[in-house]
Amino acid sequence: MPFNRIETYVNGFSTSLPEDVQDKALRKVAGFENVKILRFGYAIEYDYFPPTQLTHTLETKLIKNLYFAGQINGTTGYEEAAAQGLMAGINAALNIQNKEPFILKRDEAYIGVLIDDLITKGTEEPYRMFTSRAEYRTLLRQDNADLRLTPLAFELGLASKERMNRVLEKQKKTDLFLKFLVETSVKPEEMNLILDDNKTARISQSMKLFKIAARPQLNFDDIRKLAKVEAFILANSIDREIIEQTEIHVKYAGYIEKEKNQADKVNRLENVSIPSNFDYYKVASLSIEARQKLTKIKPITISQASRISGVSPSDISVLLVYMGR
Ligand SMILES: Cc1cc2nc3c(=O)[nH]c(=O)nc-3n(C[C@H](O)[C@H](O)[C@H](O)COP(=O)(O)OP(=O)(O)OC[C@H]3O[C@@H](n4cnc5c(N)ncnc54)[C@H](O)[C@@H]3O)c2cc1C
Repeated sequence: MPFNRIETYVNGFSTSLPEDVQDKALRKVAGFENVKILRFGYAIEYDYFPPTQLTHTLETKLIKNLYFAGQINGTTGYEEAAAQGLMAGINAALNIQNKEPFILKRDEAYIGVLIDDLITKGTEEPYRMFTSRAEYRTLLRQDNADLRLTPLAFELGLASKERMNRVLEKQKKTDLFLKFLVETSVKPEEMNLILDDNKTARISQSMKLFKIAARPQLNFDDIRKLAKVEAFILANSIDREIIEQTEIHVKYAGYIEKEKNQADKVNRLENVSIPSNFDYYKVASLSIEARQKLTKIKPITISQASRISGVSPSDISVLLVYMGR
């Protein structure tokens, strides 16, 4: 059984070393030449099972109906353990009721990234859920966590009707506000003083509010200076949270759309499943490394196969042809 090591860090500086080494090493950091360490860093070793033995539900492939969650899967951290505990618990409960498994995708939640990374890539050192590990960071924002996840939690019976209604209301009002901005025009005489104040170019003819509000020099407090915007906000009881959500959509619409398209493209490969007993060794044009890794990890879809290190885009093309795509 492999073991992991938790280390403490000084901004990425490993301190799981003998005390005299820590002392010498820290003194080499600019500004720390005369540092006095009151308490030295330490490391803790712990056992784990290779998470590549798990499926996306966190059930181990080796023993049916046995679910693993937390540090035993090679992660470290409270949130990492809690997230896996939640997912393993949900899936064990669904399994008992003969229901479909609950899997979060990489573009739906950080939990999806965490579990997919663990079971597809494995881990050689304590895995932490750094935001940098997610490729869809524009979609996985904290301000839209309720919009992304509450409907799923509600379906599972984990979120109340009241919470679900609050989310529906937020979505409805955000859509309404966005529609207003897309459809409403402003004239130069209404807008130009505000534009001057914010050092951004004047307009010479009427323009849709959505387009003007997207300018980086303007925020929504500036847009609210227009009487018709403020009147709309008051009439529809639009609160700060909805204004923030709308502003994010206006400012980042292009980036959000681009990421959604990328995710959709990858998700289409998610629909191409690979039979669990697929014999990679009979596909002569796959690289040796790909055959070994695919046989070990047994991905359930082409998309998961594409994320395994050592499996190249040309291996994926070969598999797609083999699967009749
Ligand atoms: C000193 C230290 C500081 C840390 N600081 C932080 C921090 O600041 N932030 C952070 O996010 N993370 C921190 N961590 C990491 C974090 O605590 C762990 O990653 C996390 O608690 C793991 O949760 P878990 O549920 O997987 O395992 P655990 O919390 O270890 O739970 C496993 C449980 O199983 C029980 N158990 C074991 N064997 C058996 C058995 N045979 N039968 C029945 N029960 C059994 C154990 O008693 C234990 O209660 C720290 C860890 C340490 C050691």
